[in-house]
Amino acid sequence: MTYWFMEPGKPPASLRFQYNATLHQQTQQDLAQTLGQLTEWLKNYDAGEPLPQVDGRPCQSCAFAVRCQKVRREEEWLGVEAIEEVVI
Ligand code: SF4
Repeated sequence: MTYWFMEPGKPPASLRFQYNATLHQQTQQDLAQTLGQLTEWLKNYDAGEPLPQVDGRPCQSCAFAVRCQKVRREEEWLGVEAIEEVVI
């Protein structure tokens, strides 16, 4: 499997990943297991149990951290000076 990346002003770049029927089957099993776990959690949630909680570590770099109320909106912009300016 080949992923292509295009960046303006640069030649196309690509990365190749080994993928085959065995890996496809493993991915299918992993997804089925995760979906089964989620179904169980939702069933328990409907019965009044809270959903499992994360300890916060994965939230530090997650795009949904503000929506999940794991960081405040102001904290989301603390790293804005590290973003390179785009010349128009
Ligand atoms: S911010 Fe929300 S979605 Fe992201 S890792 Fe934390 S709990 Fe999960």
